[in-house]
Amino acid sequence: MDMIAPTAPHELLRTVFGLRGFRGRQEEVVSHVMAGGDAIVLMPTGGGKSLCYQLPALCRPGLGIIVSPLIALMRNQVAAMRQLGVNAAALNSAITAEERSRIWDDLRADRLDLLYVAPERLMIPDFLENLTRRQISIIAIDEAHCVSQWGHDFRKEYLMLAALRECFPGVPRIALTATADVQSRVEIRQRLALEGAEMFISSFDRPNIRYNITPKASPMRQLLAFLKTHEGESGIVYCLSRNAVEETAAALNTHGIKALPYHAKLSPGIRAANQDAFLADDGPVLVATIAFGMGIDKPDVRFVVHMDLPGSLEAFYQETGRAGRDGAPAETLLLYGMQDLMLRKKMITDGEAPEEVKRVELSKMEALLGVCETAGCRRQAILACFGEVLPEPCGNCDSCITPAETWDATICARKALSAMLRTGQRFGVGHLVDVLLGEGTEKIIRFGHDKLPTFGVGKELDRKAWQTLFRQLAARGVVETDHDQFGALVMTETGRPILRGEQEVHLRRDVRVRTARRADRAFAAGGDTALFEVLRQERARIAKEQKVPAYVIFHDATLAAIAEAKPASLAALGEVPGIGRSKLERYGETILAALAQANV
Ligand code: ADP
Ligand code: ZN
Repeated sequence: MDMIAPTAPHELLRTVFGLRGFRGRQEEVVSHVMAGGDAIVLMPTGGGKSLCYQLPALCRPGLGIIVSPLIALMRNQVAAMRQLGVNAAALNSAITAEERSRIWDDLRADRLDLLYVAPERLMIPDFLENLTRRQISIIAIDEAHCVSQWGHDFRKEYLMLAALRECFPGVPRIALTATADVQSRVEIRQRLALEGAEMFISSFDRPNIRYNITPKASPMRQLLAFLKTHEGESGIVYCLSRNAVEETAAALNTHGIKALPYHAKLSPGIRAANQDAFLADDGPVLVATIAFGMGIDKPDVRFVVHMDLPGSLEAFYQETGRAGRDGAPAETLLLYGMQDLMLRKKMITDGEAPEEVKRVELSKMEALLGVCETAGCRRQAILACFGEVLPEPCGNCDSCITPAETWDATICARKALSAMLRTGQRFGVGHLVDVLLGEGTEKIIRFGHDKLPTFGVGKELDRKAWQTLFRQLAARGVVETDHDQFGALVMTETGRPILRGEQEVHLRRDVRVRTARRADRAFAAGGDTALFEVLRQERARIAKEQKVPAYVIFHDATLAAIAEAKPASLAALGEVPGIGRSKLERYGETILAALAQANV
């Protein structure tokens, strides 16, 4: 394969990528890097980060180096680049000796456009030394939040990358991430020696994702109801534990929903097979622990479900962000309950991390709880945590679609707190509710709690409602679980003004599980569905032949655009967004033939 000849970015955008124009801040980033500047790019998933480094890498003379943490990610990126006629390669432990020697030949002959490489491999002294003798166009550091020790994806190899500044003076470096929190931004700048880099921050809003957050009642039933509205679509269901993953996947299969498990304890072979099945066009639902996800760039994931509370707002945002990268409607569901909340807090407080880190983690989890319990727009609440202001409610979350009622819970909250204090803050929710409802259980009698003034004062609410109230008080940080006492509830300082009657409490009324409207299937709605199917089958055939995921050949959006344009000539096909020179050459005739056969 030959190199792409250096050209102006606008030109390559059209001829190589088949795109009409830039999106968001892409153009600014590209010009800045073209001019030799360093950059830190923060863009949500699906925002179009890749183009920000691919274009300057191709337009500037020399080899572009892309540091990437995951082999799977590299493999798909390289496959996609080669489809565009770009001479890209990945150096990692998974390639054959033959591929390796071909890459070396290309490297020595300065024939390579892009080299994807894992950080630990790049930083091998001999290899680095070798690269410093070549002309390097840019260095891109993808998933740059991996330098953050407080994040979920920390990789110590990333810390070595700071040395790149000294090794390649004058070569622009660009760090990219979809992680939105402020802490990561600071760490990326410091730890990658990007002090002088310009920071490009895009809005983190993902308007095509509809957020649903519902208290966990009967999780399997709730999951099935949700999946009914997403039949035949691609999606991920996250569970907290490996057992839950196995059980949920099995249960879905017995309900006739094709589902495969994914977690760290499966053999690498099975994991890879299940991931590949998921990446395929009509793949199964993937039930996974968070071991699955980073580097999955499947664009047409239509839903993401969390069966348990994620560890932080960032984790929630990242994981739900895997839905709808193609910009088409996608939907997420989060089920959460008191148990989750207690478990998560325990995981953090019992962890090995230093106190300072635990405090940050707790605050990130509390941010998520705030989003769960808000009666307002979910999107506004999420973006607010990233320092962004969405002026109007979004109209595309459960709170906006079915506004939650709030009620004045001041008196009930006082009764709940009083029940806790009167019993010495040594009991869990179940027992406290018994006290409030005036249940004469053996435990109540044994502790003499039937003699308390709070005994039986809470008959205005039923058991479920009291449980909800405790959960909501916990989410607001009014009460905490004391893990040294087996989950006993204790009041925090914020409880005092409530108890004294100085502060009102308004809580969200728990809404019943709503029946979701079927999210419009990717693109079929507006266009010619039958033709779209014909093209999909053609794409599946090509993908199978080349042993790559279907979206590497064409995205759904491109197929939909072809189905709409119904081009009758190669020239007309070349005008369709998503069709660059290389894809036109490779598949143009085939696509036209498929269209002709479908009587277009
Ligand atoms: P990220 O890495 O930020 O998650 P990608 O770089 O994978 O996002 O891009 C997401 C999707 O957006 C891809 O399908 C890509 O082809 C598309 N895309 C990127 N830039 C543009 C653009 N300027 N115009 C149209 N589509 C674009
Ligand atoms: Zn909203």
